[in-house]
Amino acid sequence: MPVDWQQYLGPFTVVALIAVGVWEMRQPLSVFQLSLARRWALHFGLWAGMGLFVNFALRLSAIGLAASLSGQMGFAAFFLVHDFVLWCSHWGMHRFGVLWVWHSIHHSDPDMDASTGLRFHPIEGLWDQGVMLGMVWLLQPSVDAVIGLQFLGIASNYFIHANVALPVRVEALLQWVLMTPGLHRPHHSVEVAGQKGNYGIVLSIWDRVFGTLHRRSFDPALGVEGVPVEETIQPLYVLGKLPWREWKRL
Ligand SMILES: [Zn+2]
Repeated sequence: MPVDWQQYLGPFTVVALIAVGVWEMRQPLSVFQLSLARRWALHFGLWAGMGLFVNFALRLSAIGLAASLSGQMGFAAFFLVHDFVLWCSHWGMHRFGVLWVWHSIHHSDPDMDASTGLRFHPIEGLWDQGVMLGMVWLLQPSVDAVIGLQFLGIASNYFIHANVALPVRVEALLQWVLMTPGLHRPHHSVEVAGQKGNYGIVLSIWDRVFGTLHRRSFDPALGVEGVPVEETIQPLYVLGKLPWREWKRL
């Protein structure tokens, strides 16, 4: 009987976060400004709330859609196209104000660790899920390709946000193909110029191709300009004011 990998996605989200969290404790890059417990509580709350909202709004999972379409596209091809589309989507979030206002919640974290990978506004979650569903509908990948991609997405999301300093040679080697903590951290710089680049999710090749790969300060000040640190740790009903304020700045 084939293994039903889908049932392990939820536990993997938690176990992988703890594993990267332990790695961060052993080799931390930066000292946090805010309480780890408060940030992790907020980020888990956002993750759970976003999951409920997205499920409620769409009631359709990418895996369920792939199963109903019985598509055959393999993992490698689907991964490549999907990673490029996510690069375009992320570029668009920094290019178009109407998308940035939601993405600004993710960028408002003044500290960065694996849990930052859970910090998204539910509207951004809805957008991401819509992109995924559209790709499954258009490309018709196999169920295994969709499940494999979701495991990879969870792992890479924690990896690029990890508060760790990889050995210099390892970091340099990985950067040729992959996004790394050293490439993604400058993208979270409080400087707008720093945010305009390194849009990759798993692969760094799209940023190379489009000339948006940069290696600014490895450990810059993080966050969104003009947002006080204490404001970034509030529950969503307070934090949720941030998109509206960013909207007014457009
Ligand atoms: Zn971004």
